Amino acid sequence: VNAFLQRIEQYAHLNAFNEVFADEAVVRAKEVDARIKDGTAGKLAGMVIAIKDNICYKGHGVTASSKILDGFVSIYSSTIVERLLAQDAVIIGRCNCDEFAMGGSNENSYFGPVKNFADETRVAGGSSGGSAVAVQAGLCHAAIGTDTGGSVRQPAAFCGAVGLKPTYGRISRHGIIAYGSSLDQVGPITRSVSDAALLLEVMAGPDDFDSTALQQPLEQLNLKADGSPKRIAYIKEALESDGTDAEVKAMLRNTIEKLNAEGHTVEPVTFEYIDYLVPTYYILATAEASSNLARYDGVHYGYRSPDATDLTSTYKLSRSEGFGKEVKRRIMLGTFVLSAGYYDAYYAKAQKVRRLIQQRTVEILQQYDFIMLPTAPEPAFKLGIEEKDPVVSYLHDIFTVQASLAGVPAISLPAGNNTQGLPLAIQLLANHCGEAQLLNFSDYLL
Ligand code: GLN
Repeated sequence: VNAFLQRIEQYAHLNAFNEVFADEAVVRAKEVDARIKDGTAGKLAGMVIAIKDNICYKGHGVTASSKILDGFVSIYSSTIVERLLAQDAVIIGRCNCDEFAMGGSNENSYFGPVKNFADETRVAGGSSGGSAVAVQAGLCHAAIGTDTGGSVRQPAAFCGAVGLKPTYGRISRHGIIAYGSSLDQVGPITRSVSDAALLLEVMAGPDDFDSTALQQPLEQLNLKADGSPKRIAYIKEALESDGTDAEVKAMLRNTIEKLNAEGHTVEPVTFEYIDYLVPTYYILATAEASSNLARYDGVHYGYRSPDATDLTSTYKLSRSEGFGKEVKRRIMLGTFVLSAGYYDAYYAKAQKVRRLIQQRTVEILQQYDFIMLPTAPEPAFKLGIEEKDPVVSYLHDIFTVQASLAGVPAISLPAGNNTQGLPLAIQLLANHCGEAQLLNFSDYLL
């Protein structure tokens, strides 16, 4: 813990942490040490973990990197924090992220952007950018993020780490600040596949506090590198798209060739809904966000405008001053697609398209063990470029939102560096509840 605390200080300029629980972590580490000595320690004894700042931890601040939650202290712990602590993890701090997990570069944060450790002029990815950099820069052993449309996988990809988004419902959302509730899923960002498997095992499972948590427990993982011949579909459009970077395409082609040479069957499939992925995701995610964020009214939580004089001005001023630009944009977009005159044309239509995307994804996964895609169309980009056009940044999510909309598990695995030394990554999707197969094959690949 002391070594990590020192390093966190040394790399404070990366802006990965919103708060470090320094003294508390040292005390806790000593307690865990004692349990290790008397043989009563849990599965995570010795593991130092950072959590994204949208995960509630009793008695600790939680802001979702928003001014509107500045000063808010959590009155209870999320299920996942309780499960991590019950297995003797040390939680070292809470990590920077995009405000309310809305973004893909960690630049939409009230606390400023996170810098990529591989190149400090570049973004960390997002929205769990702080969590990814904390792992990349060696500021903790592992970090926990949340993934609504790619927020664990894409920052992990940009930072050369392993990022797992489990099946929707695999991990309880109780105590996670909601963004898009039908999509939100907690996931680990780690250095190895075995750490991802261990953290999944600890966090997963039914929870009385989350009715969408899956009832069936996670099967025993017994992680083993499984190189037995697999059938893998890669999405043809990802290789052909002009939007995919040349080195990303080359990495994908090499991976395909290598896997074929090792006896796996890797074949192209057409995903005919590719152009509908991003619009469907952004209609549904913003609709759900506009509803979830209605609770920040200047009364119940965090920030209240000092200029408010009555109820209406409390709402208006607190929300106007408390939310950042991207969050406001999404609340407006979400409110619009849910409004009476447009509901059928946008929200209801997007629900139908989501079903088609789900069905086609599952259909492919009935014929193949995995779907393979790049995690992102390009490696970490320069800080400051996304702000110019939000649609450009939304389009970056093209390869991650398929698994989110379909609710299937997906993992991002490091796949070497490009010629500029920036991490590249490959993504694998498995069928619902296929985490064991996904992790065993990932362990073989990495
Ligand atoms: N970049 C996507 C968005 O902005 C995904 C974010 C996430 O998964 N939380 O919505």
